[in-house]
Amino acid sequence: MSPPSPLMAGRRGLVMGVANDHSIAWGIAQLLASHGAEMAFTYQGDALLRRVKPLAESLNAPLILPCDVTNDNDLDQLLSTLEREWQTLDFVVHAIAWSGKDQLQGAYINTDRDSFLKTMDISCYSLTAIAQRIAPLMTGETGGGIITLSYGGSERVMPSYNVMGVAKAALESSVRYLAADLGPQGVRINAISAGPVRTLSGAAVAGARRVAKWSQRHAALPDVTIEPDHVAGAALYLLSDLSTRVTGEVLYVDAGYRTMGMPRGDSLATLTDDA
Ligand code: NAD
Repeated sequence: MSPPSPLMAGRRGLVMGVANDHSIAWGIAQLLASHGAEMAFTYQGDALLRRVKPLAESLNAPLILPCDVTNDNDLDQLLSTLEREWQTLDFVVHAIAWSGKDQLQGAYINTDRDSFLKTMDISCYSLTAIAQRIAPLMTGETGGGIITLSYGGSERVMPSYNVMGVAKAALESSVRYLAADLGPQGVRINAISAGPVRTLSGAAVAGARRVAKWSQRHAALPDVTIEPDHVAGAALYLLSDLSTRVTGEVLYVDAGYRTMGMPRGDSLATLTDDA
């Protein structure tokens, strides 16, 4: 029997959000490459080029392009380079978020207007800005696939997640509206909601380690870590032909934390029955 053909053979895509080798986007890119994908990478400013370049080159990336998503000129340049070099594109990985560290501690109610708008711009609007430019290039036989990354703080209050939770809620809603807009041209868009992963951005949230420990202890699959590799499996599913009838969804890769309404029985057993 011949081996199964790689799921991403002949597919070209754009990966946005690699900061270093701990980034979720990097885990995704490695798995997609092992399934035959060819990828262009973006980096946010010259400071990150030093880290992104060797990683992208290790996967033989033909294009490594600057893109700060708050800058329309960068976005337009990105589009014209992809149009010129590749003409068509099959997928996009959007793994971008930012909020000021001071906003990711204390109470949400203290969020100031500038921080709110900047967090929303980078962590939510950027997906729409990318989709409106790149989707017209997704003219291949299999349409196109776009994924973004979210977190359960979009639906429920998580410690110190604050304005980022509000941005993730808007991001997930954007996924649904974009799915409806892009569906008629065969472009699918989905979000992966990952449990806590140890990355640069993850560490910006106050008490991140304790939040991760709590999530691990009380997940349906207890005491397992969530690594970029685990998120990558879901990304491969959503960007390949394994999921051709799936769009507008949020797929949880959180070891079943969300599914639990309360800590499991043995934790409750430490409480007494007294009123
Ligand atoms: P990371 O720090 O490795 O990646 C975040 C990326 O966002 C970086 O590459 C950074 O350059 C990019 N970015 C920020 N501002 C930008 C801008 N203005 N223009 C262009 N790029 C910009 O961290 P990560 O954890 O891999 O984050 C990737 C995604 O995963 C984010 O959307 C994050 O919210 C999400 N996520 C992370 C976790 C976690 O626990 N780490 C959990 C769920 C979801």
